[in-house]
Amino acid sequence: MHNLALPHQEIRDEIGKLCADFPGAYWRALDRESAYPTEFVQALARNGWLAALIPEEYGGSGLPLSAAAAILEEIQRAGCNGGACHAQMYIMGALLRHGRAAQKSKYLPKIASGELRLQAFGVTEPGSGTDTTALKTTARRDGDDYIINGQKIWTSRAEHSDLLLLLARTTPREETKKRTDGLSVFLIDMQTVNGLTIRPIRTMMNHATTEIFFDDMRIPADTLIGEEGQGFRYILSGMNAERILIGAECIGDAKWFIEKATGYAKDRVVFGRPIGQNQGIQFPIAKAYARMRAAELMVGHATALFEAEMNCGAEANIAKMLAAEASWDAAEACVQTHGGFGFAEEYDVERKFRETRLYQVAPISTNLILSYLAEHVLGMPRSY
Ligand SMILES: Cc1cc2nc3c(=O)[nH]c(=O)nc-3n(C[C@H](O)[C@H](O)[C@H](O)COP(=O)(O)OP(=O)(O)OC[C@H]3O[C@@H](n4cnc5c(N)ncnc54)[C@H](O)[C@@H]3O)c2cc1C
Repeated sequence: MHNLALPHQEIRDEIGKLCADFPGAYWRALDRESAYPTEFVQALARNGWLAALIPEEYGGSGLPLSAAAAILEEIQRAGCNGGACHAQMYIMGALLRHGRAAQKSKYLPKIASGELRLQAFGVTEPGSGTDTTALKTTARRDGDDYIINGQKIWTSRAEHSDLLLLLARTTPREETKKRTDGLSVFLIDMQTVNGLTIRPIRTMMNHATTEIFFDDMRIPADTLIGEEGQGFRYILSGMNAERILIGAECIGDAKWFIEKATGYAKDRVVFGRPIGQNQGIQFPIAKAYARMRAAELMVGHATALFEAEMNCGAEANIAKMLAAEASWDAAEACVQTHGGFGFAEEYDVERKFRETRLYQVAPISTNLILSYLAEHVLGMPRSY
């Protein structure tokens, strides 16, 4: 594929080398067993890649968001799955931006060294779905502690994380002026609590996602991040980074599918000529490439605004939506190009096809992005 000058080429090369040790056979074996890629995540942590965004004073490399985007894009482009650990990159923002000095010095050096894993993020609940402020999990103050009761769903990687960033209601909704008030964020060491049950959920792809239950789970009050009642704002403030990083992953996926489809189209001979000589095969791949390039520019634009500390809400959302659609278009073209072999496990196409589908739904679904643009950018009435 045409290789344009991309930011952080050295990082990209290093990630490419690391990922070469984790070929398709590694991911296929895990996929069959719904097992977590522990060795892959440990290799990333050992080489400091998951600490890219942690400031140097806490043992990280203090790199900008574009570096994290390059890391995740290259992981996907190599056929690996950053879904196993991407949350560490964006959950960190809540602690970095809103944590107290004591919390940062307690946790960040250990996260940077890989001693502690910060991979779990508990926001979504079965009853509230996308309507986050309707969540029902409560945190009640009791002396020097909070007591947590409730349930989360789709808390990914909870079984493979030491820490959980949790959003819970500290003031009943009817006692707050605004529905976004009264929610608080806690950073919980899951290894030290009682009253926490984690149940894996089997899904279409291997994602280590779970549902978690809190039954009078007592946590120290100093696990509160920032101010009580301001948690929804803290979560929102991290969402632009999350959207951009997921967008970068989707670009990586799209490139993997396009490279795989192009290679196969050149090699596979049917009716005495490569199938890639037929425009019916070429055009969907070329179209997917064009869509990927457009989305890639948008991801780059949103990243640049983010790094310049400018408002990038619209751009981050657009980037994520277009990149998720581009990766899906490329996945479609790749399956179709492979014919029957697109369904065979050993080609990895069907696995990546299942994996990339997620990003039109999570961490935010396309409809919610469109609603955001309609209301906040185009000034139309709020639809929900
Ligand atoms: C594999 C996986 C991993 C996940 N990991 C995490 C995680 O680690 N932590 C976490 O907190 N959450 C996680 N999630 C949850 C994810 O963020 C949500 O699934 C997603 O935000 C959609 O919410 P929902 O499933 O409740 O859908 P719902 O809110 O029930 O929506 C269902 C559908 O209706 C549409 N819809 C809803 N309201 C409107 C409206 N007003 N207008 C138009 N359309 C609407 C949505 O777009 C969607 O298509 C994960 C989900 C999955 C599947």
